[in-house]
Amino acid sequence: MNFNGVEFDTYFKNFPDDNGYFGKYGGAYIPDDLKKAMDEITDAYFTIAKSSKFIGELRRIRRDFQGRPTPISYLERLSGSLGNVQLYVKREDLNHSGAHKLNHCMGEALLAKYMGKKKVIAETGAGQHGVALATAAAYFGLECDIYMGAVDIKKQAPNVARMKILGANVVEVTHGLATLKEAVDAAFEAYTKEYKDCIYCIGSVVGPHPFPMMVRDFQSVVGIEAREQFLEMTGELPDAVVACVGGGSNAMGMFSGFLNDPVDIYGVEPLGRGPKMGDHAASLTYGTEGVMHGFNSIMLKDENGEPAPVYSVASGLDYPSSGPEHAFLHDLGRVKYDVVDDEETIDAFFTLSRMEGIIPAIESSHAVAYAIKLAKQMKKGSILINLSGRGDKDMDYIIEKYGIR
Ligand SMILES: *Cc1c(COP(=O)(O)O)cnc(C)c1O
Repeated sequence: MNFNGVEFDTYFKNFPDDNGYFGKYGGAYIPDDLKKAMDEITDAYFTIAKSSKFIGELRRIRRDFQGRPTPISYLERLSGSLGNVQLYVKREDLNHSGAHKLNHCMGEALLAKYMGKKKVIAETGAGQHGVALATAAAYFGLECDIYMGAVDIKKQAPNVARMKILGANVVEVTHGLATLKEAVDAAFEAYTKEYKDCIYCIGSVVGPHPFPMMVRDFQSVVGIEAREQFLEMTGELPDAVVACVGGGSNAMGMFSGFLNDPVDIYGVEPLGRGPKMGDHAASLTYGTEGVMHGFNSIMLKDENGEPAPVYSVASGLDYPSSGPEHAFLHDLGRVKYDVVDDEETIDAFFTLSRMEGIIPAIESSHAVAYAIKLAKQMKKGSILINLSGRGDKDMDYIIEKYGIR
């Protein structure tokens, strides 16, 4: 399929290019010594991770440890309440540890093991990526340093406890605002010193090359499985595919299975409290081109060109940019990016829980909310939603802030 001049039959061969670019987005805007470390990971990725031995081992892990393939569920009662459109969810909430993040963490940690590294390091904000990486590190017997702001450590006590129980070393970062940005800086600084013995494991399709490509490829298991399962269940492809977009990893995993198909693809960004800067984290919808955290993409900037403060009810979505491949697909028009706000999201959280017996993560509830709106417009056809994670982590907060609806 050719779409606005891009040939999607050969898309994965051509994007990213050898320097890590998707069109003008991507690349590696980092100091020379870090660039060397990234080049080593890129080389290892193309030699080790593309070998049949590695692929075979990762397949076995996905089946026996992660519990893949995760199912697709038909949402019978919700679909019935909306009219003639059929809604389905890909159940990443049933992936081990409760979200899609383990898909790329197991891949990254297995690569670390094959490269002879002793340790994996990363930063975490809400703690979800830290927990997934700590899970992978425990499985492979790797050391694991997770950098986390002091403020986030206080806010995210259950995830901090999980990481510690799994044997990770949670490194408290106290400078500046002591949140995610400082944790990223501290983790990169540590990595620059320690890169011979460890690898940095990025938590989404962001950061310098090769991470946007690697994380997409490890997440593509979601889209590949979903396409096959959907065809088997219904005999056709879905008319639309929907996923929430923070950094963009669950979305890229799902979308990569359908880019070359006549399927409408929707990425859903968090509108938070509204369209005023600081009240949302809809970077592709309201952002402009720029470089942050080592890559060129579309981002939300303040008046000094620095990453803007962002907000969403879903802490997994409040990042001031998204992966470079999303910026590319956005400009190309292959994926349509749109927003839903906090209120619509909380309604969808309760609707899916009540009507289907599935409690979704607040992040995933953004995709559910959008699909409900889309179903009302479409009148007929089918929508496949990527349910990126389960909502256990969000229940206390939602009851305290919104009560039972
Ligand atoms: C972290 C997280 C997200 C957002 O990350 P992406 O890289 O955009 O997928 C979405 N859903 C859940 C459940 C998460 O934990």
